[in-house]
Amino acid sequence: MIRKKLSGEINPQMEGEETTIAGWVDTKRDLGKIIFLKIRDTQGKIQVTVKKERDSEETFKKAKDVTQESVVAITGEIEKTDQTETGIEIKPTEINILNKAETPLPLELEEDVESKLDTRLNQRFIDLRKPEKEAILQIRDSALTAIKESMEKRKFVEMHTPKIISEGAEGGATLFPVKYFEEDAYLAQSPQLYKQILMATNLDRMYEIGNYFRAEKTDTIRHTSEFTMWDFEMAFIDSQEDVLQVLEETVKEVIQHVKENAKPYLEKLDVNLETPETPFKRITYEKARELLKEEGKEIPKGKDLDTEAEKMLGDIMEREGHELYYIIEYPSEEKPFYIMRKDEEPYYSPSFDLDYKGIEITSGGQREHRPEQLNENIEEQGLNPDDFEYYMNAFKYGMPPHGGAGTGFDRVIQQMLELDNIREAIPFPRDLKRLKP
Ligand code: ATP
Repeated sequence: MIRKKLSGEINPQMEGEETTIAGWVDTKRDLGKIIFLKIRDTQGKIQVTVKKERDSEETFKKAKDVTQESVVAITGEIEKTDQTETGIEIKPTEINILNKAETPLPLELEEDVESKLDTRLNQRFIDLRKPEKEAILQIRDSALTAIKESMEKRKFVEMHTPKIISEGAEGGATLFPVKYFEEDAYLAQSPQLYKQILMATNLDRMYEIGNYFRAEKTDTIRHTSEFTMWDFEMAFIDSQEDVLQVLEETVKEVIQHVKENAKPYLEKLDVNLETPETPFKRITYEKARELLKEEGKEIPKGKDLDTEAEKMLGDIMEREGHELYYIIEYPSEEKPFYIMRKDEEPYYSPSFDLDYKGIEITSGGQREHRPEQLNENIEEQGLNPDDFEYYMNAFKYGMPPHGGAGTGFDRVIQQMLELDNIREAIPFPRDLKRLKP
């Protein structure tokens, strides 16, 4: 390894030791006979002071030559100083320029210069060198680890379902077609049908964290055409309450994990996370309509809450002290065919959304596991049951009652960190206008 030490591993007690650091030239201050280089790595910045009179001619020449954002490896002696925040600087014996950066840079890196999101995404490799942008993705990593730990702890197995499929489950309008040899196929919008098929096997507590694709024709701050979803599905449930409990406990653990393990990154973003209390607040769809009506917002009976309604409900819930809350018992007509209809009151379904500070992050519910009813649901929605034969078969030969949820992982990060746009939470977002980088 080129790197012997990261900046965070060097302290004033190490005075006199020789080390090699490596990273990007964050800033260069050339005062003629003395040059200050700040070298940036994943842990912070370290000053290298190069003096014409003291250091070798070659070292001084390289320091003169190097440009901002070049990649360098520098070997030298650790010295104490009261001139830097870290209390140390490096007296170099060798400067190795591993890759000299061209000038000018395509994007400003100074903290006080905030470029437009589009410009930043075009130069994402530079954008992500900014510690506060990197912090978002470090927190994303921490949350992913937490989901896996929480799911495994609850004996869910991680599975990967196909991303090339023959039928969509979430409505035809947002399917991306792909040519699959001689057949027409689509990119998966969700793992829905396949995760349900697994419920007819002993892999009947499964989860998946995967990327899904929806041809979203509108440009919003919470949709992209490729996004990461965290799904889980579980069999032998009594009711959707079993699903609600797994989800709320897991979400709580994820927030707690990030709070404990990603502290420096949260501080960089000035985010103070509160671990939510469980159980999360549950309000019915009809109650949500009533609350919204009191605030002057009418939701036509049976219709889903629109963006404005979600936001308003978020404000109402915030006043009651809830950042995370379930909306339960949605009207069946707004729900996909795989959601059960209530036997005693088929207008409503045992289904739910989980909203986080005014934005939906999860949809879930109890699924229809009885083949005749499932067939009816498919027909009711104007779909052809023959197209779903491979799925329906799994229901004919022993399918336990089951339920589950799908959570937009990028949206969780967006809401957790209160980011203006979901694209900030994705390394390389895809949308209506963006196919690269
Ligand atoms: P919305 O109404 O917000 O478009 P949806 O009802 O279409 O979402 P579902 O099919 O229920 O979404 O998907 C489950 C979750 O996946 C959503 O709650 C959301 O967090 C996430 N999700 C869905 N579509 C997208 C998208 N295009 N970009 C990012 N996340 C998405």
